[in-house]
Amino acid sequence: MELHAWSPVALAALIGLLVGSFLNVVIHRLPKMMEQQWDAECAEHQAAKTGTPYEAKAPALTLSRPHSRCPHCSHGVRWFENIPLLSWLFLRARCSSCAQSISIRYPLVEISAAALFAWCIYRWGFTPTGWAWSGFSAALLALAMIDWDTTYLPDDITLPLLWAGLLTAALGWTESTLSDAVWGAAAGYLSLWGVYWAFKLATGKEGMGYGDFKLFAALGAWFGWQALIPIILLSSVIGAIVGIAMKFSSGLREGGYIPFGPFLAGAGFVSMFWGHNAILYSLWSALGL
Ligand SMILES: [Zn+2]
Repeated sequence: MELHAWSPVALAALIGLLVGSFLNVVIHRLPKMMEQQWDAECAEHQAAKTGTPYEAKAPALTLSRPHSRCPHCSHGVRWFENIPLLSWLFLRARCSSCAQSISIRYPLVEISAAALFAWCIYRWGFTPTGWAWSGFSAALLALAMIDWDTTYLPDDITLPLLWAGLLTAALGWTESTLSDAVWGAAAGYLSLWGVYWAFKLATGKEGMGYGDFKLFAALGAWFGWQALIPIILLSSVIGAIVGIAMKFSSGLREGGYIPFGPFLAGAGFVSMFWGHNAILYSLWSALGL
């Protein structure tokens, strides 16, 4: 590729860095916003039951308010301390006020988003298809991180992702036909719903959550129904390996629960990079078939 041919890829990487910076806010705040909303709904319901007047408070937290602060000393982050990647390097990973370390997660999320955007634009060009897959990657990255941290897969991300998959198929931006995408979404949701209830009736335990069904439905919409079996096989295999590794290293959190969303998201990325046929082929080879 000639130098000027790389400029769209470089631009995509730059946009990816900025999106990654926003994703850090989403990953950090969206679960807290959901909890605040549930608390408010509970309070409103209680007030309605007892007949006491209920005054709705303005939400304490949104994606834009309040301004970012250091979680240790509440030092307000100034604009030049908020530049993706560069500020983290220039601050040498420490808060300028209290010198507490700033997690490497922030620049890692920014670099991941930049790399994903650059890859999508390199692969599909500076086209609606390239940007559609960039958006898909951003949503998947946020979902994986939020689920790993909190075991939530917010509807605010999974449902728009599902609709976006159907719309991109309808617009001809992805390789799936609209019919494949619709069947993928429906079969993705229903299959995990069925597994969930079978597991619950058999063992009385909940193996996963409704968020997993919605995420799997979204993947079905983006890749078509043909990708569902490769994706579920790959995410189960990786999930089992990680689960066993965490059990032996006693890294399991309380209750021994490992969220499934990050593995579904991981399989979604593999499917985007190499296609679902490559997943089946690798799994079959690994089994010596
Ligand atoms: Zn601080």
